[in-house]
Amino acid sequence: MEQTIENVKSVEAILQKRPLIISGPCSAETEEQVVNTAIRLAATGKVDILRAGIWKPRTRPGSFEGIGTKGLPWLQQARKASGLPVAVEVATAKQVEDALHFGVDVLWIGARTTVNPFSVQDVADALRGVDVPVLIKNPINPDLELWIGAMERVQKAGIKNVGLIHRGFSSYGNTEYRNAPMWHLAIEMKRRYPGVLLINDPSHICGNRSNLHDVAQTAIDLDFDGLIIESHIDPDNAWSDAKQQITPEVLGELIGSIRWRKEDVASEEYHANLEKLRQQINNLDDELMQILSQRMKVAEKIGQYKKDNDITILQTNRWNSILERAFAKGEKLGLSKEFVTKYFDAVHMESITHQNKIMNS
Ligand code: PEP
Ligand code: MN
Repeated sequence: MEQTIENVKSVEAILQKRPLIISGPCSAETEEQVVNTAIRLAATGKVDILRAGIWKPRTRPGSFEGIGTKGLPWLQQARKASGLPVAVEVATAKQVEDALHFGVDVLWIGARTTVNPFSVQDVADALRGVDVPVLIKNPINPDLELWIGAMERVQKAGIKNVGLIHRGFSSYGNTEYRNAPMWHLAIEMKRRYPGVLLINDPSHICGNRSNLHDVAQTAIDLDFDGLIIESHIDPDNAWSDAKQQITPEVLGELIGSIRWRKEDVASEEYHANLEKLRQQINNLDDELMQILSQRMKVAEKIGQYKKDNDITILQTNRWNSILERAFAKGEKLGLSKEFVTKYFDAVHMESITHQNKIMNS
């Protein structure tokens, strides 16, 4: 390992910075590209760590699969020229060894690796006895336990500085996002692991340039610790992920245009007012629970009635008409169709559970 103690220390300090901004190309392509991207990113004054993919896990064969180990010295050059520590994705023990040999400061585990406990364990075993920060991307499927499992494997290998990257979750078919953010999953990770660095990856969530700002702003409004955004000196001609990359200067503007919000403020008036509003929310939540409980009691009565008459629980026509009513009402009340759908799905399933108990008792 060629890292000096001092370098490692400085990376530890950099990782404490909030917001933490990581940027750089999806893939290292040429020495010139990597070094120039790094210099131009450093010149924006907004970037803390340079990222570059050396080994690229591509969904289909035939696309550019990364420059490989020969790109690692380029990162050393970029590091020297820009003063930015460098981060690389690793998916195998050999990649960990090579990256560390060339003094890479931060490693990350990609979404396609996090899904596979064998691969994560292979990487974790290679990390034993090494002092390097490791960031773990969420798995491609929305499974928090897999994400947590990967973190635990790396921590069990003795890595103290572990962070999380939220890069969204893939699904079949065209959607607004390349990878749906499913923000509630990131929020749940934050709730369960409040001390762990959590950054957002708008590039792989969006898959395009136009939504980067909005996703980044949402992440910051949700109190993420930072962002990882891909940048390239010639985005349109990037060898991978061309559609979502932006130039270092555009990256600088994007970071500059984000409204950074604080988590708290030391004003008594603010806290008193917030407390009052929160009390209102608590009261409304209590009322909602009471009403939901009443609704379930009515559902149980219906269950008894259906039982006496030997009728199925699910009545598709009735369910359709409930949804139609709810959508119409929801729209008037300013509730999104997405929310109304999720809410009524949950309420309907709970009703079915209650009726089931009655009908099969
Ligand atoms: C990447 O960061 O370039 C990458 C491959 O991302 P993900 O693992 O999120 O797909
Ligand atoms: Mn990419």
